[in-house]
Amino acid sequence: MPTDATDRLLLGPGPSNVHADVLAALARPTIGHLDPAFLSLLDGVQGALRRVFRSGDDALVLPLSATGSAGMEACLVNLLEPGDTAVVGVQGVFGERMCAIVERCGARAVRVEAEMGRILEPSRVRAEIERSRPRVVALVHAETSTGVAQPVEEIARAAREAGALMVLDCVTSLSGMDVRFDDWCIDAAYSGTQKCLACPPGLSPVAFGPRALERLRSRERPVQSWYLDLGLIGAYFGEQRVYHHTAPINMIYALDAALRRVLDEGLEARFARHREAHLHLVQGLEALGFEMQVAPRERLPMLNAVIPPVDDEAALRRRLLGEHGIEVGGGLGKLAGRIWRIGLMGENARREVVDRLLGALRSLL
Ligand SMILES: *Cc1c(COP(=O)(O)O)cnc(C)c1O
Repeated sequence: MPTDATDRLLLGPGPSNVHADVLAALARPTIGHLDPAFLSLLDGVQGALRRVFRSGDDALVLPLSATGSAGMEACLVNLLEPGDTAVVGVQGVFGERMCAIVERCGARAVRVEAEMGRILEPSRVRAEIERSRPRVVALVHAETSTGVAQPVEEIARAAREAGALMVLDCVTSLSGMDVRFDDWCIDAAYSGTQKCLACPPGLSPVAFGPRALERLRSRERPVQSWYLDLGLIGAYFGEQRVYHHTAPINMIYALDAALRRVLDEGLEARFARHREAHLHLVQGLEALGFEMQVAPRERLPMLNAVIPPVDDEAALRRRLLGEHGIEVGGGLGKLAGRIWRIGLMGENARREVVDRLLGALRSLL
């Protein structure tokens, strides 16, 4: 049955489907970014993000007016200066992107690489931190290009012990699996709205802890990006509320509505829902002859890297989209043409959604 192009089930690596309440929030009348009514809504959004990151009151938490990659760039350009060293965990495309940004800061990226589809052994990263004594350690929690869940705590502890600042990419993990900014000793983290937060793309929630804020104050040179300078952005998103750039009002309405859904459900319940949907998907896919690319203990719940049981994976993906209105992702980088990336993010982490995908695949295979 051909479907309307505006009615898609989004089971790729993001964006994910957005709930009608969140879409309705987007359509509310635009008001001024200094209107007290808007500022009080913004206070609520910043408070809700703090709860989702599990960060303390001493962190600066705000939605950056740009996508997840801008969150990555903001964390790195604010903490690094030319000549600094950053140890970067590279398990896939997003670790590579971090290295590219580190180098554009004039800093040195020391790469610790994992085999595609495997975690980085924390002890290897620890050894590199002890050897290089970097300013920053940067890691991707949920590597969306490979479907691997990277253990964070031991690496973040090693970074803290070495006096380095820990930067964590939570674009895909936030609100789909456990993220603990304070307990894990993270200094700066960023996410994106279009993955497990189930909001349209366009905002990047970031959290800067007290050590990262102190580093900002003690920089020798100004941050090379005016737009992403958190010292300047903080004047609007902090106490003073002075103009830096025009906040994307309607996107923040949407994020407010999406965060309400997250907190009304409860983080633990939401994580459990993602895990259960994932297990149901794995069982169904294996019965259809798909193979999972990642070992069970290292799998992400919200992003499943799978090897389809056909020679022409792209043709099957096209039919899934054209005949059933279901989008799944192809492989990225070295995995292009070899794997599918099936996202079960936010609203889509449900047994009924998985059953719809499995039913469509059964009919196509
Ligand atoms: C999607 C993603 C990004 C980039 O986010 P954009 O919103 O596409 O800029 C960064 N890191 C990870 C792990 C991602 O999954």
